[in-house]
Amino acid sequence: MSADAFRKSKGRYPDPDNAERDRQIAAARAAGEFLDDIGRKHGISGSRVAAIVARLSAPPRVDPRIAQTQKMAELYSMGVPTKQIAARFGVKPCVVNMRMHRAGIKAVPRPVWDRLAERIEFASGCWLWRGKRDKFGYGVFQPPEGSGRTSRAHRLTYEELIGPIPAGMVLDHLCRTPQCVNPWHLDPTSILENLQRGLPGGRRLGSKNKKKKK
Ligand SMILES: [Zn+2]
Repeated sequence: MSADAFRKSKGRYPDPDNAERDRQIAAARAAGEFLDDIGRKHGISGSRVAAIVARLSAPPRVDPRIAQTQKMAELYSMGVPTKQIAARFGVKPCVVNMRMHRAGIKAVPRPVWDRLAERIEFASGCWLWRGKRDKFGYGVFQPPEGSGRTSRAHRLTYEELIGPIPAGMVLDHLCRTPQCVNPWHLDPTSILENLQRGLPGGRRLGSKNKKKKK
């Protein structure tokens, strides 16, 4: 702690810069020396000596936010979503993020499927993506950092529930609903074949497609 920070803390926290001096002062006082005599030895006033002795004998004051931040960090590092932590402590999510960032605490990445599932409206037919979508209507998703995985939601659900997408293949939406992420509505096809089958939103499945749309 710098001298400046120590002054700002009004002496509430231990002063590491003067820890040895403070220890000597406390020992001298405990041995029954007078405040002014001790102060003279260390070049400070008697009242300053009294303040130091009082601080050292008092139980350490802990900023209540430190304890709160520690509890937050515990949850955060377990992968509990920031929003939930914020709600629990009655603060805004950005407060949680800021404190974790300052403390250098990283969240354990949650399983991709858990994060995907939160954004899917499961149904017997199409599973509609309720998260962000791109200009073509496909769901987009922030894949785990450095995983090199796609940000297309439907490709991720396919990979998570069915398996790897063969290299060079695209997933054709058999249901013609770009927003759908139901992997059983997706068919791996070559790019060329996909173009021949028609663009998403077309009516390749004819009557079947009409029934689905209310
Ligand atoms: Zn579908």
